[in-house]
Formats: sequence, structure tokens, C-alpha cells
Amino acid sequence: MQSVAFLGLGSIGRPMARRLKAAGFPLTVWNRTAERATVFANEIGVPLSRSARDAIKDADVVAICLSTSADVEQVLNAGAIVGIKSGATVLDLTSGDPATSKRMAAALATKKIAFIDAPVSGGVKGAEAGTLTVMCGGDAKDIERVRPVIEAFGKTIVHCGPVGSGDAVKAMNQALLALTIWGTGEVLVALAKSGVSPRVALEVINASSGRSNASMNLFPERVLNRSFPRTFRLALMDKDARIAAQIARDEHVPAPLTQLVADLCSAARMELGEEADHVETVQVIERWAGAQIK
Ligand code: NDP
Repeated sequence: MQSVAFLGLGSIGRPMARRLKAAGFPLTVWNRTAERATVFANEIGVPLSRSARDAIKDADVVAICLSTSADVEQVLNAGAIVGIKSGATVLDLTSGDPATSKRMAAALATKKIAFIDAPVSGGVKGAEAGTLTVMCGGDAKDIERVRPVIEAFGKTIVHCGPVGSGDAVKAMNQALLALTIWGTGEVLVALAKSGVSPRVALEVINASSGRSNASMNLFPERVLNRSFPRTFRLALMDKDARIAAQIARDEHVPAPLTQLVADLCSAARMELGEEADHVETVQVIERWAGAQIK
């Protein structure tokens, strides 16, 4: 079995690492905030690594799940890159940006280390259940080699194209997520203000053509009951939407909706702060309108 080092024990990194351990992969873990790593390593019963370099030194697969590609590049440049053994594969699960992924892949290739950008979709629940969608960018043979590792947490594993294409697909998916949250929020607030119960409205929308993951899952489970659990930070959705808008600009594709939703996410992030969940953006619409969805 391939040995795996897992770097980045955030909201979605932890359940993915937990599944790798449960699947029997020899596992080492590292996290920037050491306390988080200590608690997690003790909880799942893996050795505690003192540094990223310590965690990766014998790994066949270095799985990384940090906030941004810039963070991944920083960790690699701070020493990890020289410690990864030749012939290993870096499996970057971060929702990253294509340009940085291509740069990292080129730097790693000089040391005979493969790079796959492999952002995931399906949230913390999907990671816990092992049902994530994993969109991979890289060489087919590299992806096949690490497929058993990805299968520990992924159900739908798609090779999207060369390095960077997983990031690109993920960013565009996130732009759609942001658009459906904003759109569903706007129509439900307007309906609530006009006297229609949001529960009734959602019942109709979810049996009609306006439905989406936002209307079918996020609003019933998180907005109607006002629970707004913190599972995926708005700051990260903002980052994703900006990547999507940048890709459209780079490709000279007029994409006003993508740009707009990226700006809306940035404005909501400024208003709600770095720890707010992505679904809390609905509260910004509610504040503007002076009405609540409940
Ligand atoms: P969190 O904010 O919960 O965790 C971020 C992780 O990155 C932490 O381990 C943090 O370390 C680490 N980190 C951030 N910056 C650095 C840095 N400069 N150097 C080293 N470590 C760093 O994020 P998530 O786990 O939610 O998300 C991780 C990635 O997965 C993101 O790209 C996100 O977009 C994506 N994603 C998340 C989903 C979700 O539902 N949460 C769903 C799909 C994709 P520390 O503990 O020290 O802060």
C-alpha cells in the first residue's frame, strides 16, 4: 500500500485524512497550527510529525489540503519540496488556481515528482461519507497510480485534463454554487416580503425548474431552521469565485455574472468576516431587504 502524508487538517482535510487511516494507508499528518495536529493525530492514532518535512520524507503520496494554491506553494518552497522523495506524487486537494498549480508542477517535475491538482466537491459530509467528487488535472498514468488513495474519500473521480484543469472546473462549479445561493436568497427574501412562506416557495421551486443544490439542500437544512452551520468558509467561496472570474478574463470570455458574483462574495466577506460560512451570505441579502427567510 502506498504511504500517504496528509498536510492541512482543516474542516475538510480532517475527514479525508480520517478515511485514509480507516482504509489502512500508512499515514503521517501535519498542520501549521500544531495543536490541531496533536489533537487529530491522537484521535485517529497516527504518529505526530514535528514539521511538514518530517511528515513527507517517506511518503509515496503527499496529499495537501490548504486554503489556497499560494499557501501550498509557500509550504513547498519553505522546505517540503526538497524533502519529498523522487518518484512520489503530490496530490493537491486544495481548490486552487490553475496558474500556480502549473508552476508547482513544473518545479516538482525537475525532481521527478508528479503533481495532480485534485480539488474536491461534496462538502464535509461528503468527505466523511467518502462520496466526494474529485476533479483531477494531470497525467492519466499519475492519476491511475494514486487512484486507490483518492478512492478512500472520493466516489466520482474525473480526469479533467492536464495540470490546472481540475482547479479550473472546480472554480467554475463554485461560481455556480455562489450564483445559486445569491439567486435563491434573493427570490426567497422577495417572496417572504410579499407574504409567501419560504417553506411553501421552496416546496414549489424544488419540484420545478428553478431548483439547485442550494434550494434542495442548503436552504432547507441551513437557512429555514436558521442553523447556518460553519462547514465551508465564505472566504474560500470568495477565493473560488475570483479564480473563476480570472479564468474567464484570461480566456477573453465575457462573463458578467461570474464577475458580479465574485464581487458580491467579496462584499459579503468584508461584511461578515473571515470565519463566516458561505451560506451566511443570505443574511446580507436579508439585511438589505429588511426581511428574513424562515
Ligand atoms: P479551513 O479554513 O478549515 O482550513 C484551512 C487549512 O489550511 C488549515 O489546516 C490551515 O492551517 C491551512 N493553511 C492555511 N494557510 C496555510 C499556510 N499558509 N501554510 C500552512 N497551512 C495553511 O479550510 P477547509 O478545510 O474548509 O478547506 C481547505 C480547501 O478545501 C480549500 O481550498 C477549500 O476551498 C476546499 N474545499 C472545502 C470544502 C468544505 O466544505 N470545507 C469543500 C470543498 C473544497 P491552520 O490550522 O494552521 O490554520
